[in-house]
Amino acid sequence: MRAAKETVVSIEYTLKDDRGNILDTSVGQAPMEYLHGASNIIPGLEQAVEGLVAGDFKAVSVPPLLGYGEYSEKLIQRVPLDRFGENKVEIGMRFHAETNLGMRVLVIRHVDDKEAVLDGNHKLAGKTLHFDVKVVSVRAAELSELAHGHPHQSGGCCGGSSSGGGCCSSESEGSCDTSEKSSDEKGGCGQGGCGCSQ
Ligand SMILES: [Zn+2]
Repeated sequence: MRAAKETVVSIEYTLKDDRGNILDTSVGQAPMEYLHGASNIIPGLEQAVEGLVAGDFKAVSVPPLLGYGEYSEKLIQRVPLDRFGENKVEIGMRFHAETNLGMRVLVIRHVDDKEAVLDGNHKLAGKTLHFDVKVVSVRAAELSELAHGHPHQSGGCCGGSSSGGGCCSSESEGSCDTSEKSSDEKGGCGQGGCGCSQ
């Protein structure tokens, strides 16, 4: 069976930057499983895997537009601290919020005594991503998987720690974190995703 729409594909991958530094890898973890054609992973990687069969290997370079997008200054916001109300404000904290580029995960990059600097760029925004990917298996998706938009196998979507280049293709790194209550419509993992009872 070839990787195509409505198949569940299991891949091993290693992601490197332009200098060859490893940014993320599935090596040492379960392979990453995703529902092909459902935006579970970034478009450039999905396109590279399209048509491959189990055992196939491919090296592909994914430009930002097919990865996590271009880095955008528009996604940097300065927000007065009083807007946070009683909430704690610390560097590294992240939350979902509406921006002028749609729903984003924002990370607090800087805090001073008056305001916080929020960054809605994915940490891999603006980067060309170099993947070595190996197809482990391809199977037809179950109806319930098609309905949910993600695989229902252990070790699949959000089964491992897939930060960056992982299963959560949407701009929301960390959207797999089940402690994060808000759902992310676009990602494979957000809406009832990982936490779904099946
Ligand atoms: Zn589900």
